Amino acid sequence: MDFQSEEPDDMSHTLLVQWTIKPRIAPRPWLACNRCRTVRPFEPSGKTRLNANGRRLDAWLIYRCSGCDSTWNRPIFERRHIRDIDPATLHALQNNDGAWIEKVSFDLDGLRQNAGRIEEFAEVHVEKTILNPAAASSLRVEIVLGLAMKTSLRTERLLSMELGLSRKRIAMLEEAGRVATTPLGRNTLRRSVKDQMRITIDLAGEADRNAILSRAGP
Ligand SMILES: [Zn+2]
Repeated sequence: MDFQSEEPDDMSHTLLVQWTIKPRIAPRPWLACNRCRTVRPFEPSGKTRLNANGRRLDAWLIYRCSGCDSTWNRPIFERRHIRDIDPATLHALQNNDGAWIEKVSFDLDGLRQNAGRIEEFAEVHVEKTILNPAAASSLRVEIVLGLAMKTSLRTERLLSMELGLSRKRIAMLEEAGRVATTPLGRNTLRRSVKDQMRITIDLAGEADRNAILSRAGP
């Protein structure tokens, strides 16, 4: 085996990192507020309501108007028979489970079923872990994305923020065929980040390669 090889396919020349991404701000529905007499953003209060009517239950996530604290109840389910409710969901509702409530607050698809206009936020917290450390001669970085919840953040914006690269430079690397994504797709960098997505950037010959590689890790 030739250990001097700088063959770019060699895993020992790839810094492999995992980025776990969590959005910071829950999406806000814009709703007509009766008290404010205008359309306002509503924010999740972190509280739920559970109502029983015989064997049928209603559950809501409570939102508050950002202008006046009026509430809006977002249905989680309505008039559902107790036998049709997932036991874990029922347990979370009965115990005010904070982690579960947070997950529902960030559930964009669920919110879309009850609100027409939704304000999304691209601010995220990125936790970086090294899966395979960089050799001194690392030429590439491979990033595995993990998304706890959906976010509207675009892939190129994430790379720009976290690796300290301008969008122009990312575009130049992309044009030179030095950025690869899995799954493949046209314009992937301009779309929102996806769970399990992998991004590989070939940094061979870049003068600030080591600085970029160090920003890719924790
Ligand atoms: Zn209001």
